[in-house]
Amino acid sequence: GRAWHLTARPQGWPTPADFALREEPVAAPGPGQILVRNLSFSVDPYMRGRMSAEKSYVPPYELDRPMEGAAVGIVVASQAEGFAPGDHVLHGLGWREYATLNARQATTVSTDLAPLTAYLGTLGMIGLTAYAGLLRVASFREGDTVFVSGAAGAVGGHVGQIAKLKGASRVVGSAGSDEKVRLLTEEYGFDAAFNYKSAPVAEQLRAAAPDGIDVYFDNVGGDHLEAALDVLKEHGRVAICGMISLYNVTEPPSAPRNLPEVVKKRLRIEGFLVSDHRDMKEEFFQEVSAWVRSGELTYRETLVEGIENGVEAFLGVLKGENTGKMIVSLPEG
Ligand code: NDP
Repeated sequence: GRAWHLTARPQGWPTPADFALREEPVAAPGPGQILVRNLSFSVDPYMRGRMSAEKSYVPPYELDRPMEGAAVGIVVASQAEGFAPGDHVLHGLGWREYATLNARQATTVSTDLAPLTAYLGTLGMIGLTAYAGLLRVASFREGDTVFVSGAAGAVGGHVGQIAKLKGASRVVGSAGSDEKVRLLTEEYGFDAAFNYKSAPVAEQLRAAAPDGIDVYFDNVGGDHLEAALDVLKEHGRVAICGMISLYNVTEPPSAPRNLPEVVKKRLRIEGFLVSDHRDMKEEFFQEVSAWVRSGELTYRETLVEGIENGVEAFLGVLKGENTGKMIVSLPEG
């Protein structure tokens, strides 16, 4: 089976030359193991961090080894109790066609509840990030005005919709195209949205939230965070989920320049990792899967077909080519 390797550590923006698609032997499962044929795998902004050598909360990708990431697939051989050929599983060995792994590192998932790809997004790590980040880290309360950046992306689209479902008085989102902005207001139920590329964020945010905001869910950092600090109300809360505007820069950021607002307004700013909030998984899954079933929460996916397009899909996420979750699908045969 084929697998993507990282072959060089990118400086600034990654390019296709930093990766290679290579043939890998497919190992038969040993005791306690399963062999999975991957059907889809996830490409995510956090993977950019793993391409650098610096120590972080996940170890760097090793050079000239298959890359990793969330994937869903079908069990084709099993030496593990509780797993049989034909079962669908979620696991961490993406970026490849076949994966041999310890069954303890895989979770059986049901396609009765939702299509398989939903476990890479809404019903998986993405949905939990939005749920825990908004409800726990940002201490969301009914009646809050919420601003979320990256709002037409995977996490952001869920944040805005969950805020509305939980009784936000106003939800504002930003995204990088007029088409995405329309999706936010016309399909996701945002009260206001703007294209951050068409005018300064500070100006547009002030117009969209004239009475200020209680919560900022940050996916972007930089000038978005600066604009949010300006319009946050006293005792406002900021959940820092990510800062994608900084992932490929080689110079230190020039914003936010207004950190004294934190003191003046007694703001609380807290970064978080979804892995710290696994204890909310049950509650999250119950509530969010019910919203999906009832149609109260919708989601988009951008599917890129073929493992050979995996790197292009990843680069596409960094450039905003996705609406909702970016997924690489591996057709049969
Ligand atoms: P998305 O689906 O949101 O894809 C990334 C989006 O970011 C792109 O579609 C693009 O949309 C936008 N973007 C890219 N560059 C910029 C820029 N310079 N300024 C503003 N927007 C930009 O990805 P995810 O939902 O997977 O991730 C969203 C954020 O959440 C990321 O920061 C990620 O690192 C973080 N994250 C953090 C987790 C945690 O545990 N803390 C877990 C999962 C994700 P556009 O067209 O609008 O520019």
